[in-house]
Amino acid sequence: HSKEQGRNTYTFFTDQMNNDMHRRLKVEEQLRNALKNSELTVYFQPFVDIRNRKIIGAEALLRWYNPELGHVTPDEFIPIAEQTGLILSIGKFVLETAFAAAYHWQTYFNRQFKIAINVSPKQFRENKFVDLLKALLGQYDIKPSSVELEITEGVLLSGDLVINHNLSAINDIGISISMDDFGTGYSSLSYLRSYPFDTLKVDKSFINDITVDPGDLELVGAAIAMGHGLNLNVVAEGIETEEQYQLLNALKCDYGQGYLFSKPLPQAEFEALLEKQESI
Ligand code: C2E
Ligand code: MG
Ligand code: MG
Ligand code: MG
Repeated sequence: HSKEQGRNTYTFFTDQMNNDMHRRLKVEEQLRNALKNSELTVYFQPFVDIRNRKIIGAEALLRWYNPELGHVTPDEFIPIAEQTGLILSIGKFVLETAFAAAYHWQTYFNRQFKIAINVSPKQFRENKFVDLLKALLGQYDIKPSSVELEITEGVLLSGDLVINHNLSAINDIGISISMDDFGTGYSSLSYLRSYPFDTLKVDKSFINDITVDPGDLELVGAAIAMGHGLNLNVVAEGIETEEQYQLLNALKCDYGQGYLFSKPLPQAEFEALLEKQESI
């Protein structure tokens, strides 16, 4: 009996691995032409000032619709883009689109409008990354400090010299740097001390249960206090309910992002939301 079970387990795993491998290859194959075929779109999710719920900026988030695969989530295709190097051209597209949108919104709505853009380790490790940012700042007349590059600890893990160089060069041109998904990695604390961060984004997994789990509430409160102690702005990600919002407001969190305010939206819909706010 146990032998049979062992064999079944073995078969199950190989089939599963086979499926995963095929899916991965298919996604990779389709991703190679996604940019060229205009299948990638940048959505924008607002983040608000916690005190008055006013939209003060947006995070650019990639969306991919492929005719064969349908919608593919960033959590699936970003790692593949990163491993294959496709992230360099895709990331450049996101930066260009986000800078153009921010330029427009700073011109017509609010000079202080902030734009947050996710940057992958491979992009950050590139020698020319800072040149690309400088070129974009030259092309679009936006305030460098209104651009926030979101990085995760993965970017810092390698301890690569190019990364240190790029981080200080970015800091020198006045672009802001956020630590994304704070709390999900292992060495956040030492990184916060060693690098010039401006903003800390508390991961949504900690926000989820703050109304029911006293431990999580305690952790989020500590993260906010620590962020403020280090002179950082603190953003809570994944706010979905009024109750979560009220607690974060009481904890003096600076900014909030989540479905309670809005899901990520196509550019035109985001602009309609902004228009409504600004005309009040
Ligand atoms: P992230 O940077 O932490 O982005 C926040 C994620 O949380 C987004 O998922 C957003 O849609 C989702 N979210 C926002 N509010 C809520 C909420 O109230 N509830 C829940 N359940 N989720 C919420 P999304 O768009 O699927 O992106 C997933 C991840 O993919 C991002 O996490 C980021 O790491 C990566 N990503 C997305 N776009 C890009 C990009 O242009 N470049 C790079 N390098 N990575 C990207
Ligand atoms: Mg992010
Ligand atoms: Mg995050
Ligand atoms: Mg993330």
